[in-house]
Amino acid sequence: MPTTVKPTMTNPANYGYHAHVYFGEDTRPAAERLAKRLNEHFDVEIGQFSGDRVGPHPIPQFQMIFKNEQFATVVPWLMLNREGLDVLIHPLTESSYDDHSKNAMWLGTPVPMKLDILRPKYSEHLLPSSQRSA
Ligand code: ZN
Repeated sequence: MPTTVKPTMTNPANYGYHAHVYFGEDTRPAAERLAKRLNEHFDVEIGQFSGDRVGPHPIPQFQMIFKNEQFATVVPWLMLNREGLDVLIHPLTESSYDDHSKNAMWLGTPVPMKLDILRPKYSEHLLPSSQRSA
C-alpha cells in the first residue's frame, strides 16, 4: 500500500484566510450586495472597498478575513453566490508572496497580482482578530 502524507491545516502554519472580491465601475453594486449578504450569513471581517490599487491588487476590491474553521462553509457559499465577480481566496501563512501566487485559489478569472511589492509577513490587522496579539 502506498504511504500517504496526511494533509493538515498546520503544515505550514495557516492563521486563516482572505477572500478578495474584485469589481469595476459596472460591477460595484454587485460587490456591495455580496458584501452585505456575507455579513448577514457569516461572522467574518469585511474591509473597506478600495477605490484603486491596494497592495498586490491591481484593481478595486474588498477584502474579507475569515477563520480556518469557516473555510468549508464560506467558500462553497461564495462559489454559488459571487454574482460573476472574480474572487481570490488565499491562506495566511508566513509567506504572503506564496499565498498570493502558488497557494492561491480563484473563483472566476484570475487577476494578475503585483507580487513584487509584497513583504513576507502580514501586518497584524490583516490576520483574523483571534490571531492578533492583544
Ligand atoms: Zn489578502
